[in-house]
Amino acid sequence: MKKLLLLLALPLVSHAQTAPDAIKEKAAKIHAKALTIDTHADVPINMMKEGFDVAVEHDYAKDGSQIDFPRMKKGGMDGMFFAVYLGQGKRSPENNAEAKKKALAIFDKIHDAVKKNPEVAGIATTRADAYRLQKEGKRAVFIGMENGWPVNDDLANLKLYYDLGLRYITLSHSANNDIADSSTDPDGPEWNGLSPFGEQVVKEMNRLGMMVDISHVSDSTFYDVIKLTKVPVIASHSSCRALCDVPRNMTDDMIKTLAKNGGVIQINFVPGFVKKPSMQQELSMKAIRMKLRQTDLSPEDKKALFEEMKANAKKYESDMPTIKDAVDHIEHVIKLTSVDHVGIGMDLDGGGRVQGLDDVSQIGVITEELVRRGYSAKDIEKIWGGNIMRVLEAVEKGKTM
Ligand SMILES: [Zn+2]
Repeated sequence: MKKLLLLLALPLVSHAQTAPDAIKEKAAKIHAKALTIDTHADVPINMMKEGFDVAVEHDYAKDGSQIDFPRMKKGGMDGMFFAVYLGQGKRSPENNAEAKKKALAIFDKIHDAVKKNPEVAGIATTRADAYRLQKEGKRAVFIGMENGWPVNDDLANLKLYYDLGLRYITLSHSANNDIADSSTDPDGPEWNGLSPFGEQVVKEMNRLGMMVDISHVSDSTFYDVIKLTKVPVIASHSSCRALCDVPRNMTDDMIKTLAKNGGVIQINFVPGFVKKPSMQQELSMKAIRMKLRQTDLSPEDKKALFEEMKANAKKYESDMPTIKDAVDHIEHVIKLTSVDHVGIGMDLDGGGRVQGLDDVSQIGVITEELVRRGYSAKDIEKIWGGNIMRVLEAVEKGKTM
């Protein structure tokens, strides 16, 4: 009797506790096959610095860089949206013109890097491009713009950027602009959502077939966008406020509303958006992040800042969120909506990092965690790229240009 019970129990035990190696193996297969897309990569911040070559492999432990083509390949990262990022400065005709000039220089840099490495990468603007490049074994470089400041007050700039390959604009960054209110402007709301010009911007983006990105914007801006848009919208790098209560994250109602509209929220891996840090830790991280975003840093400055970052990370290492914490956000969205409305936008090179994922070469651990939680290959393919490509295509099809 005892023996029989044991025999009966055996298959159950092995089913319930799949060996870690078996999970790894299964995950590796799914990961290799899936189209993996990350919708927010700040690698252009590094590319704009003297001497940084995105085609050369870097070492996170040495210079803090998290993305380059060789490490994308190593990690099985098929495509990323490279961010044309401009921190919001004081708005004036001169500064606005300068923002456009800087944006164009970043577009140039991205196109140049791809042109110089035709065997390794290609510019992607459509779903079909992404799957084609994956087949060719090349990295897909999509382009997104973080902060609509360079749109200035001229809708014609949207067409200009669209023609340069731009496929989403994050309407604002950390401060309000002429388009919309940000979720984090120290002075609070300026427009109570979208400005009248911002409404025109959303309509024109719909018309051109460019995705509207509501990461960073205020809750009111989000609801204004939803009211106005004729196609699904995205949050390119946002997490869940229910799990980490910061204004940069989305409330459950916002996530449900976004999903109802057909859109997708791409989970952000910035520690402070995954798990609420202590006030002290928050302040020190913010200070370093702001310094790192400067484009005129000397190699010595960079090294000093990286040392500061390492010391800071070490100090708070045990508090750092883990892969499990990040995947909890993915799972929260799935439970709220379905597996069709969540993806990944880690914000690498922009502050994204959790324990066990220092750079893009390590993204396989996300797939492992999803497999461990019982997600199917089909689900994982949707999370990694299927969902965002579905939205990109819907926006493209909805265009009336
Ligand atoms: Zn951001």
